[in-house]
Amino acid sequence: MAQESKKADNPLCVLNPAFSRPLVIAGPCSAETEEQTLGTARALAAHGIKVFRAGIWKPRTRPNSFEGVGAIGLQWLRKVKQDTGMLIATEVANAKHVYEALKAGVDILWIGARTTVNPFAVQEIADALAGVDIPVLVKNPVSPDLDLWIGALERLQKAGIIRLGAIHRGFTTHETTHFRNSPHWQIAIDLKKRMPAVPVITDPSHISGDRRLVYGVAQEAMDLQLDGLMIEAHIAPGEALSDANQQVTPDELDAILKRLVLRAPDVADKKFHYTLDELRAQVDLLDKDIITKLAKRMDISEEMGRIKKKSNVTILQPSRWDQILHERQALGLSKGLSEEFMTRLLNAIHEESIAHQNLIMNVNQSRDG
Ligand code: PEP
Ligand code: MN
Repeated sequence: MAQESKKADNPLCVLNPAFSRPLVIAGPCSAETEEQTLGTARALAAHGIKVFRAGIWKPRTRPNSFEGVGAIGLQWLRKVKQDTGMLIATEVANAKHVYEALKAGVDILWIGARTTVNPFAVQEIADALAGVDIPVLVKNPVSPDLDLWIGALERLQKAGIIRLGAIHRGFTTHETTHFRNSPHWQIAIDLKKRMPAVPVITDPSHISGDRRLVYGVAQEAMDLQLDGLMIEAHIAPGEALSDANQQVTPDELDAILKRLVLRAPDVADKKFHYTLDELRAQVDLLDKDIITKLAKRMDISEEMGRIKKKSNVTILQPSRWDQILHERQALGLSKGLSEEFMTRLLNAIHEESIAHQNLIMNVNQSRDG
């Protein structure tokens, strides 16, 4: 029931009531040629895809990469629309892109991750859209900053855009992970909490950066009750001029979507709830235990800060930290915890521990001289 009313409030579903969860948007990273664009679109339409994406102005991290075909691609997108009946979506990064896309009859616009980080650019797009009723999707900024993401959505809301959506495409990280961009699922979940009427569409292609990992990310998005998927698909992914490693063929996309298991958020089964409550109680106790132990560890760090201060020794001894990292990582690994998680966990503990020692070392600093 709750799910139904949420659906009715979902501004992108208003776009077409036939769209049920997940809302799927698929198409190549970039429109490269008319044949590639139309060939990909026809194959996707044959698999029942209703919304086609293709970038024509491509913000690339490094110069000398393929930067998109530009406005000519809009004509190919129009042909896709006429030919297949699919809605067409493209990325806009400034007012000129907005005017050209609107003139060409583009149905859905999206703002890219490198644009969302810049409030001036987002405001320029919002101003260009004032008074226009078109769905706009905002990709998360490259940095894990929820307020910046929300700020961009708010700028569009203030310009009168009501059919707003968010695209969760992962976040740049300095850590080495098997993903191109860290999903930080909690940020997407928090966005839904802060803006419940805005559907969140996960982009497993840009999160994973690897076509073999697209299915797993898509399934995780569904299990976290996110609303849709944007997946890059290309008629010949290996030959793609951008993001070749992460694109799938239309047939592969179809197989991924068919394999997805859409689980219900709840069931009316007493035994299920009883068992779940039992397990949740265990988790609650363990979390309490972990937090109490962490607080105790910080008390000991402060004690170390006191003796280091007394003996005029620096907070950080890099060799000790290296030893901790290696030993604990090996222990975590032997217990089935991923190296990525252990690194993040140990770094967080270390940073907090340094903060506690620093507090002790530098308290009364002014009095101490
Ligand atoms: C894209 O969708 O092809 C793209 C450039 O994505 P992002 O803005 O997420 O990097
Ligand atoms: Mn791409």
